Amino acid sequence: MLPSYFIPLFLLVTIHLNVYAFKSYSQYQLWRLDVTNNEQVAKLLDFSRVAYQQNINFWSEEFRVNNPIDVSIAPESIESFASFLLSDDIKIKYHVIMKDIGSIIERQNLIHKLIPSYENFDDFAYDKYHPIEEIYAWIDTMVQTYPSLATSFVVGTSYEKRQMKGLKISSNKTAVTVAGIPVNTKKAVWWDGGIHAREWISPATNIYIAHSLLSSYGTDPTITHLVDQFDYYILPVFNVDGYAYTWKTDRLWRKTRSKTSQPGCFGADPNRNWNYHWCEGGASPDPCDDTYCGSKPFSEVETAQVSNFLRAHNDTVVHYINFHSYSQLWMSPWGYTTKKPEQFKLQDDGSAKAVKALGAVFGTNYVHGNIGSTIYIASGNTVDWTFGAANITFSYAVELRDTGEYGFLLPEDQIVPTGKETLAGELALLQYIEGKVYV
Ligand SMILES: [Zn+2]
Repeated sequence: MLPSYFIPLFLLVTIHLNVYAFKSYSQYQLWRLDVTNNEQVAKLLDFSRVAYQQNINFWSEEFRVNNPIDVSIAPESIESFASFLLSDDIKIKYHVIMKDIGSIIERQNLIHKLIPSYENFDDFAYDKYHPIEEIYAWIDTMVQTYPSLATSFVVGTSYEKRQMKGLKISSNKTAVTVAGIPVNTKKAVWWDGGIHAREWISPATNIYIAHSLLSSYGTDPTITHLVDQFDYYILPVFNVDGYAYTWKTDRLWRKTRSKTSQPGCFGADPNRNWNYHWCEGGASPDPCDDTYCGSKPFSEVETAQVSNFLRAHNDTVVHYINFHSYSQLWMSPWGYTTKKPEQFKLQDDGSAKAVKALGAVFGTNYVHGNIGSTIYIASGNTVDWTFGAANITFSYAVELRDTGEYGFLLPEDQIVPTGKETLAGELALLQYIEGKVYV
């Protein structure tokens, strides 16, 4: 047998291409549908359940009258989908937002980033998207750079046996003070990103905010105070297998990567898989659907492990954020019903503060409210469980930038602005929560 360095170059190139066969979105279009009545909403919802059969994929989670619905269409389905929309019994107007999704993916040069570069983590680029290996190397760098504040933690192992690795920030001060008086139990905060794999701005925003807390501790009085008052658990990439898949195979993948009962259909929606009013509405029992709720609650090892971690820490965790994109929404429970919980005002007042502070930075406009009314019914979602089952009062689902110009393909030059404004919103919310939990 020849030693490995005798492998001819052409063979290496072949292996490389096989590993990184990337799904092409060449000539796929993104349309925005204008839905004006409930009959249209109902028909579109019905259609959305079988849309995958025609390579049609709804980017929007909002199915409401007078709310634009974004949907991507494979070139071979453009004609038939147009005639469906314009047919007499549905009559939905639409316009084309992106003429060629594939060219935008290419223009953003995403494919070139498939080969990780681990060097120079002192110069980690906060204005770039990073594959999972680089994010984990960044966590290690933070631990080395800020040893008195940062440690890493592992929630568990994913379906494809990747670590689910996070960053804990704690100033190790045990006596939290309120008006100068020590309070013994220090409360904790949990943020995560990337529960939906293609929503790349959400891991990037977690990274930006975590780094801001670490690098500004001791110089920025607001951050120093809030880092002393709370411990922070940050899981930048929740759906780690799905995220890796968006880097190497399909940029627009959403779900986990587990096997299902349906050959050829993989993964469940990790934001429909939680054991609280599981799979009641706004979630699909069809393994091929993008909102597949899984074979049972917590069928996905990733959601099961995060829920175990939160249960084990639920005497301290008082605030949870599940970061998504896109739509610019700051939302609180419930998602399984349009009804609001008793604590809605307490929660939504916090959203209002966050949205106001966020908007003050660059004028970015966010809407806030309960999930069920602000977007649509989504049962088995993360924050319904963190609030309903784990009693984390200040549980939020946040949809980051934008409102559809680029959608999931938000350009890298918006990473830092998104980070800055979201940090401002979050600091305002933390100050609000501080006043509610330390009394
Ligand atoms: Zn999402």
